[in-house]
Amino acid sequence: MTFQNLGLTTDLLRAVAEQGYSEPTPIQQQAIPAILQRRDILASAQTGTGKTAGFTLPLLQRLSTTKPNQGHRTPRALILTPTRELAAQVSDSVKTYGKYLPLQSAVIYGGVGIIPQIKTLRRGVDIIVATPGRLLDHLRQKTLDLSQIEILVLDECDRMLDMGFIHDMRKILAVLPASRQTLMFSATFSKAIQQLANTLLKSPTLIEVAPRNTAAEQVTQIIHPVNRDRKQELLAYMISFHNWKQVLVFTRTKHGASRLAEQLTKDGLKTTAIHGNKTQAARTRALSDFKQGKVRVLVATDIASRGIDIDHLPYVVNFDLPDVPEDYVHRIGRTGRAGNEGRAVSLVCRDEYPLLRSIERLLKRTITEDVIAGYEPTASDQAQSDQPNRKRSHQPRSQRAKPQTQAKSTRSKNNSAGARPGKRLRTA
Ligand code: AMP
Repeated sequence: MTFQNLGLTTDLLRAVAEQGYSEPTPIQQQAIPAILQRRDILASAQTGTGKTAGFTLPLLQRLSTTKPNQGHRTPRALILTPTRELAAQVSDSVKTYGKYLPLQSAVIYGGVGIIPQIKTLRRGVDIIVATPGRLLDHLRQKTLDLSQIEILVLDECDRMLDMGFIHDMRKILAVLPASRQTLMFSATFSKAIQQLANTLLKSPTLIEVAPRNTAAEQVTQIIHPVNRDRKQELLAYMISFHNWKQVLVFTRTKHGASRLAEQLTKDGLKTTAIHGNKTQAARTRALSDFKQGKVRVLVATDIASRGIDIDHLPYVVNFDLPDVPEDYVHRIGRTGRAGNEGRAVSLVCRDEYPLLRSIERLLKRTITEDVIAGYEPTASDQAQSDQPNRKRSHQPRSQRAKPQTQAKSTRSKNNSAGARPGKRLRTA
């Protein structure tokens, strides 16, 4: 299967060839022909599967090969994303794949000035990539006309619902023409997603590709049991000992992300944090510094990390396990992309074992455990006060998971993230 077989025009094939893609990914093979045939689609696909090109390429082709209804440039395609980072990345893809086409696009999200966006919209655009909140601001201010939208894409729809955007989405949907083509992408299919799909889509083509976690045998997953209060020390040690050059670290809270970034910086590791309390400019700069290798460790919360797309990202560390098991899948999907090897390391303390079990149930497998000598968990391991949602506080002690023992680790000692230190290591 080639991109030519999918019926793409030469301008698009040229842009794709420049990206070095030799063949379409499974989702592209299924989505591109269906979208070109003007079908609605409901696609279960996560980041890393090539879904962005899967909807962007046929969308560009549809717009470039058909005439707009109106003489002047009015937006004809709208792509909604849950986060600013994802909007920026999708917008980059639109520009990259559409570079040989006479189409204009604009990215619209909050956290930055609205005036430049209004000026761009006034000049006329064909494609809008936006987060729901700021898009609504433009609609209220009447700086945007969505009455000519022919194609609507809802990217990472499950995440938009998780983030509470459903009301904003409904307000936006209400001003779109009913005759449009709608493309819905979601990593998971909850009842809410299915209900939304039922109301929005007309005889959709269903597309399912294997989720990253089952497809990506390239991602080696490992658990290091450790006391909560020694996680930071262990992480600093592992980064230095294995000489990891580019590590994405996940924490559950914004506060935890900032604090960890400060501590790692004190340990001499160039670290920065991205989370919802940072300005958009700070988040963009942090991501760009990390991509360019100016910063070695990027600490992120789940929401801030959505859409982070870094080619060849070798290491992802779960400093805390996420509350929602699906987030684990999203997190580890940041590594091991496009055939590259990746390693997902989780530092798990005693009270996180119920979370680990839920993740393993979702994955339908157990994750290899490896106790690092010198960091063996002890019975005194305690949760800390910046973990407001900890499930342990609702659990009788008798039902809590037991701390890991060395004995369990022996089954997997050859799967460690590298050579294991034989002695207790420095304190940070
Ligand atoms: P996405 O799932 O859209 O976030 O894409 C994940 C990564 O796959 C991005 O870095 C794309 O540049 C890359 N990609 C998309 N399509 C292909 C393809 N056909 N061959 C190789 N890499 C691709």
